[in-house]
Amino acid sequence: MKKRVGRFAPSPTGPLHFGSLVAALGSYLDARASGGSWIVRMEDLDTPRTVPSASDAILRTLERCGFEWDGPVAYQSERTALYRAAFERLKVNGKVYACGCTRSEIADSALAPDGARIYPGTCREGLAAGRAARSYRVRTEGTHIEFDDRLQGRIRHDVEHEAGDFVLLRADGLFAYQLAVVVDDAGQQVTDVVRGADLLDSTARQIHLQRLLGYATPAYLHLPVAVNAKGEKLSKQSGAAAVDADALVQAFAFLGHALPKNIAAAPPHEQLSWGITNWSITRLTKARAIAV
Ligand code: GLU
Repeated sequence: MKKRVGRFAPSPTGPLHFGSLVAALGSYLDARASGGSWIVRMEDLDTPRTVPSASDAILRTLERCGFEWDGPVAYQSERTALYRAAFERLKVNGKVYACGCTRSEIADSALAPDGARIYPGTCREGLAAGRAARSYRVRTEGTHIEFDDRLQGRIRHDVEHEAGDFVLLRADGLFAYQLAVVVDDAGQQVTDVVRGADLLDSTARQIHLQRLLGYATPAYLHLPVAVNAKGEKLSKQSGAAAVDADALVQAFAFLGHALPKNIAAAPPHEQLSWGITNWSITRLTKARAIAV
């Protein structure tokens, strides 16, 4: 089996919650079961949403759960020069344009599946007289993306009509997640992205950027997301509790790898060793969400 390079890329906006633990566990076991490496990347680029103490709290929780990562933790806030270089390359190649629209000006555009507005292309042919650039968008005209998710199967997206020209450099001067994640996954030579299916609809946009930048496309495996009875994602936003001692055992069960009794009572690193030996994606449920 080829050695995979996996990664866990939490946004430090609060403590590690169950949904992120599932993503950490799935990506860890998938990489380690191949004899490969696993890196941790703090996605602390969205500074208005970042909580200063959250990165350390997440890392301490991962340690308590027995995870060991390879190399130093990468912080996106320290990698802005890389995003700028990629952005400039796209701009020089005419793939990016300045957009002067405010949020309220596109508020009545159609909604994308992820809740974002589909940009109607107003500034695609240039800024109207008297308008100043606020953000920068990437062109998506005629972009159809198809890929095989390792769990969810064949995925097809018409990026122009389902996402629209999306923002790479935000009005507040920050590079967007979509650009940063693509630059980092390529730069860190990630071979397999294993993450929650809430990001499945972002993947086509990321593959679009990979192609424009000449990067290889990693394999993708989107895990079902843990939701509550109302179908809401268990995350910081909906006030989900930070993980406790039993959470790792529950995360194994959530991923179809219920631990044998004696292993469930053993220390976390023994649970992870069992998981590495027994990991099989055939045990995963092919669904975008599972209620817990
Ligand atoms: N930072 C993103 C999040 O916590 C995950 C990004 C990714 O795995 O691609 O939702």
